Amino acid sequence: MRGQVPQTVTIAGSDSGGGAGVQADLKTFQAREVFGTSIFVALTAQNTKGVQQSLPVPRSFIEAQFASLADDFHIHAAKTGMLYDQEHVQTVADCYQKHSFGPLTVDPVMIAKGGHSLLKEEAIQTIKKELLPQTYVLTPNLPEAEVLTGLKIKTKQEVKKAATTLQEMGAKNVIIKGGHLEGKEATDFVLMEDSSIFQLSAPRIQSKNTHGTGDTFSSCITAELAKKKPFKEAVFTAKAFIQGAIEEQIIVGSGHGPTNHWA
Ligand code: PLP
Repeated sequence: MRGQVPQTVTIAGSDSGGGAGVQADLKTFQAREVFGTSIFVALTAQNTKGVQQSLPVPRSFIEAQFASLADDFHIHAAKTGMLYDQEHVQTVADCYQKHSFGPLTVDPVMIAKGGHSLLKEEAIQTIKKELLPQTYVLTPNLPEAEVLTGLKIKTKQEVKKAATTLQEMGAKNVIIKGGHLEGKEATDFVLMEDSSIFQLSAPRIQSKNTHGTGDTFSSCITAELAKKKPFKEAVFTAKAFIQGAIEEQIIVGSGHGPTNHWA
């Protein structure tokens, strides 16, 4: 018998194509050997070619999913992904305050690689005001960090300034992902709770199969935090996991395919 296992929850959107969103999170949880549960905030009709349609889940049903899990599971760590609009962000923030699901990783998902919006613009203020103060780890990419801070980020100094600004808004630890910067290396900038900083660099891999990369990275951190791994170790594990998931490509669909969660 295996007995007790760490339990996690992803509070996010469904990707019918299985490469991003809740599906990527659950596959990552499984690969990292934690038990994954889910709270659906929105649904997308999606494949590797893009997002064709999206639909919000009624807010009362988000509350019901929170209540069901809180009534039965002992969740050790959680993450958020696609949160759809202002009202849905507010509902998730209220529910998170009410139920104790451990350290929260917030991946402030805004726009899918194909250009489809996953978060309405007016929701940004609510993320800043209601969610960031409850955030243990914030994982924006560079464009998301720019939107959240209102800063233009081109240099390393500007990345550092943006991370500090996000920490001042309430996020305890901030990881600004550098995948959108040019160069041979993809470098992420990490600002920790105690103000120390470090960087994670890995060779940039040329691949069109990077769908769901951000979700997979943040759900891996969540899984490691559920195992009570220290934050820094969780981040290094997630970086290695996502690097392997991109490197060992699988071919699914004809568009931007998913990363490989078995890697
Ligand atoms: N669809 C859903 C439901 C998501 O949560 C995300 C990312 O968080 C995406 C699509 C975007 O995937 P990508 O931009 O990696 O292709």
